[in-house]
Amino acid sequence: MTLQSTSGNEPILDVQGIKKYFPVTGPLGRLGGIKGQVKAVNDVSFKVFKGETYGLVGESGSGKSTTGRTAMNLIKPTAGKVFYKNKNIFDLSKKELRPVRKELQMVFQDPFSSLNPRIRVGDTLEEPLVIHSLLANKNERRERVFEILDKVGMQAEHYYRFPHEFSGGQRQRLGLARALISNPEIIICDEPVSALDVSIQSQVINLLQQLQDEFQLSYLFITHDISVVRHISDRIGVMYLGKIVEEAPTESLFETPLHPYTQALFSAVPGKHRAQKRERIVLKGEIPSPLNPPTGCMFHTRCPFAKDICRTEIPQKREMAPNHYVACHLYE
Ligand code: SF4
Repeated sequence: MTLQSTSGNEPILDVQGIKKYFPVTGPLGRLGGIKGQVKAVNDVSFKVFKGETYGLVGESGSGKSTTGRTAMNLIKPTAGKVFYKNKNIFDLSKKELRPVRKELQMVFQDPFSSLNPRIRVGDTLEEPLVIHSLLANKNERRERVFEILDKVGMQAEHYYRFPHEFSGGQRQRLGLARALISNPEIIICDEPVSALDVSIQSQVINLLQQLQDEFQLSYLFITHDISVVRHISDRIGVMYLGKIVEEAPTESLFETPLHPYTQALFSAVPGKHRAQKRERIVLKGEIPSPLNPPTGCMFHTRCPFAKDICRTEIPQKREMAPNHYVACHLYE
């Protein structure tokens, strides 16, 4: 993992104000008209730099995964821009998007989603080489697959096997191999270790870090797991109800979490960091529905420090320390 300076360095991925609203219909579907909108991602911006890991953390339902999929253009955005190497990928035609897809890859929580159960692993791994016309010759493609299998700690003989013959950890290595084979610049990792045992989790995380060093990869790492995000990330964005409420370099965020939501999230995890040694902050209630989000600060219904202004005015992001931003009326 290479810690990047965020100044004087062009981002490889520049996400600007993306929104993703899902229409909600009644029992008649679209015939009965749209009844409302689920605001899954609501004005999210962040940058990922070359060789950097940007972590997105938050509870389930905070919009992290939808942010990742929208940033990849896998689902159509409601608004916003995503610049990859200075081009807004939402403006690209299908043809123009194809070479970008090769460089922007995704690894999912369930590696089965990128491995066809009826196709031998070798053929699945070769597929991106065919789609992107990277290697025309079958023997060259097979050699490339052997090389990638080796990089992810698998053997050449695994080329001929089917996905069901592998353990969860091995399948995640294969999911990673599939993402790596087309030489990507950035990989969006969506809860890549959440389904694995703890010992296997650390092996996969170590592998991700080795591959990052070797290939100068950038990662957008999405997880609900505080320990994992702290271990792997250079910078972290904390998400709550479709918004990033705090963003900071990892060390700064764990030393001085500023947003009451971040403080509560960290206080639930035992650890040696100052924030985690504080008294546990138990939040009231459940995360509200994104169909009917609170007015003002999204967190005011659960925040122990909420004031009148929090119920009516959306707090703006402020830089409180170098590259450490928070959106909370307490800091105005
Ligand atoms: Fe709490 Fe108000 Fe800050 Fe929101 S803006 S986190 S409600 S203090």
